Amino acid sequence: MSDDEFRPAQMISERLAERIRTEGSLSVAAFMAEALFHPMAGFYATKDPLGAANDFITAPEISQMFGELLGLWAAECWMQMGAPSRFELIELGPGTGRMMSDMLRAGRAAPGFLDAVHVTLIEASPALKMVQGQTLASASVPINWAKDFDKAPSGPAVVIGNEFLDCLPIRQAIRHKGQWRERVVTLHPEDEARFVYGLGPVLGEADMAFIAPGLREADDGTLVELRPGDQQQIDQLAARFDRDPGYALFVDYGSAKPETGDTLQAIRAHQKVDPLDAPGTADLTAWVDFDRLLRLGVDAGLSAFGPMTQGDFLTELGIEQRAAVLSRSVDEAGQAKLKRQMHRLVSPEDMGTLFKLAAFSSEGLPPAPGIAPFKRSR
Ligand code: SAH
Repeated sequence: MSDDEFRPAQMISERLAERIRTEGSLSVAAFMAEALFHPMAGFYATKDPLGAANDFITAPEISQMFGELLGLWAAECWMQMGAPSRFELIELGPGTGRMMSDMLRAGRAAPGFLDAVHVTLIEASPALKMVQGQTLASASVPINWAKDFDKAPSGPAVVIGNEFLDCLPIRQAIRHKGQWRERVVTLHPEDEARFVYGLGPVLGEADMAFIAPGLREADDGTLVELRPGDQQQIDQLAARFDRDPGYALFVDYGSAKPETGDTLQAIRAHQKVDPLDAPGTADLTAWVDFDRLLRLGVDAGLSAFGPMTQGDFLTELGIEQRAAVLSRSVDEAGQAKLKRQMHRLVSPEDMGTLFKLAAFSSEGLPPAPGIAPFKRSR
């Protein structure tokens, strides 16, 4: 690590340590928010962590086919809304802008789609916003940015987020002596340069709503994750889709059933590292609980679809046919590369099964294309 990369990291550690000394232990969410989004030194705030040469790689960075197929999905949604002459394509956490650029290129296949579309990118990181501006510099449709989802223009919309929900700050709770206690981050008693987990306050009644009913009386030692960010996102979506018609699609890694256990993970330079080590220098994410996400949607009055695996979804949208078309214009090495990319996206040993999706729509619209309606299991 070079000196100027090291200093911001020091800065976050020192800031967090100072907060713990003055305010007491922090929730995992507070730790995560600071590590990812501190305006000067946060992991996303300062650099572009995406891509083969950087910290981690996502589906749109693996292959153009991912964004292209989602572009066709968005165009289909637009048609199902009656092909309005103006509509909003809103992306949450657009990373490098690659996916949006691939979506728009594919959208040419639907006559009138590109004349209607206005893009809004919801991005918290100034550094990534710049990268997005470069990627989309030659786009032929209007592109705007907003910091928050509820600042996006109103009107019929398609909302998409790939690997967005997994980086919303989570809280964790541990069952201890028959009570749920917040899991907190504090300083190591003998070495104040290290962060360690501790047991915090007993969860209040409002917080218990974040824990699946079947888990509320779990055995001592059980750990659950609370995802207040999902709740906020769903509430904002429901408010929007109550006023204006729309479809939303979230793709992420996670489980289809409520699970217990610590899923917070840190990735630095493609390696898993300790989430509490050197905050700001690694990506911190946690599994999305798709069952809970979909239930939140239904409870908020949305129509809900999924969960479905990424492998099944991309197959349904025609990734094999798309790969065959692209294969025609490349040499053998190019064809082998397309095959490898497709395999990474759909095969169960790779992203195909771990990555899942959930879709939502305003009530009264035709079902989300390609995804079966959500059925509550219990
Ligand atoms: N969708 C991209 C990037 C995923 S990384 C891809 O698949 O490659 C997560 C992205 O979400 C980054 O762009 C990050 O800066 C952004 N992000 C995370 N939390 C956010 C928040 N609360 N508000 C806006 N953007 C956020």
